Amino acid sequence: MSCNFLELAVPGVKEMSPYQPGKPIEELAREQGLRVEDIVKLASNENPLGPPPSALQAMTESLVELARYPDGSSYLLKQALAEKLRVAPEQLTLGNGSNDVLVLLAESFLDTNSSAVFSQYAFVVYPLAVKAVGAEGIVVPALNYGHDLDAMAEAIQENTRMVFLANPNNPTGTCFSEQGLFGFLGKVPEDVIVVLDEAYFEYGLGGDLPNGSELLDRYSNLVVTRTFSKAYGLAGARVGYSISNPDIADVLNRLRQPFNLNLPAQAGAMAALGDDAYLQQSIAINQQGMKYLEQGLAGLGLDWIPSSANFVTVDFKRNAMPIYEGLLSRGVIVRPVASYGMPEHLRISIGLPEENRRCLDALGQILA
Ligand SMILES: *Cc1c(COP(=O)(O)O)cnc(C)c1O
Repeated sequence: MSCNFLELAVPGVKEMSPYQPGKPIEELAREQGLRVEDIVKLASNENPLGPPPSALQAMTESLVELARYPDGSSYLLKQALAEKLRVAPEQLTLGNGSNDVLVLLAESFLDTNSSAVFSQYAFVVYPLAVKAVGAEGIVVPALNYGHDLDAMAEAIQENTRMVFLANPNNPTGTCFSEQGLFGFLGKVPEDVIVVLDEAYFEYGLGGDLPNGSELLDRYSNLVVTRTFSKAYGLAGARVGYSISNPDIADVLNRLRQPFNLNLPAQAGAMAALGDDAYLQQSIAINQQGMKYLEQGLAGLGLDWIPSSANFVTVDFKRNAMPIYEGLLSRGVIVRPVASYGMPEHLRISIGLPEENRRCLDALGQILA
């Protein structure tokens, strides 16, 4: 007999459920007897172009140094990022994915006596990070699936230390304007940290999305997070970062694991950062794919939430699980979002033209 280890876990952890990733290609291949090459995965908002060849080369070249610890300060990557973003290196905190930085933020500033505000349908890592430290999560009802910034400002309590905003948001793809953000930041007390998660920032370029990295001089309590996992095509390398007031970065740096960015990851991110052609191609293929998918969805008489990111969340207006299963049996993996309280929606990442076509064809068969 062993004891009940869940009972032994700290209170916050007991309430957590594990993060559910998109179904891996190999798993579906096993389950359905399909060939890996025949499976289309549009489930995790990854870059369908694959990793930038420049990053692959840099990572491969870095491997001869693998017996050594990486540079714990990621000096070169920080310098390159600082230059690109026109901020000081002291404002940057690098993480093993931006997920790492989001968790560091919660661990650094929240405890069992504090609360954090986030939106209904917001990225699931926020409630997970908040629960893990035993803080209270205050969920503000969404407005048309997006953040209700006025209601979120009003939801801030005496013990609130942090607000999480995602722009664009995952899994809804919704975004808010610079005007909306200014209005919100003007209402937030200075000692409440506003985490602005811009994981999909690059896809919104050219639109009217605010650029958080340009607002840090005006708002000392603003923390912007970005990632190499989406438009930069390096989800598997795990590189993300925050840009903030240097004093906040100093706090995060105390808690950060000394070598949280591995050696190939640093090399790959450096190369990807300098590869503007790949980034532009990624944005272009996403725009074309989004247009194509939206036309196809409209042709099938389906509704979706307008998206500023690299995915679109479709409203089937009935239990979406049979449709999800139907897609799986046709070798197409998308993402159910029932765990977000959206059982009638599925989130579809934008893929390559052929992948988008496969997805629409399969949907057409299922709905016929
Ligand atoms: C994908 C995503 C991230 C990035 O996660 P990484 O840990 O950097 O891979 C962060 N926030 C949101 C809203 C996301 O969808």
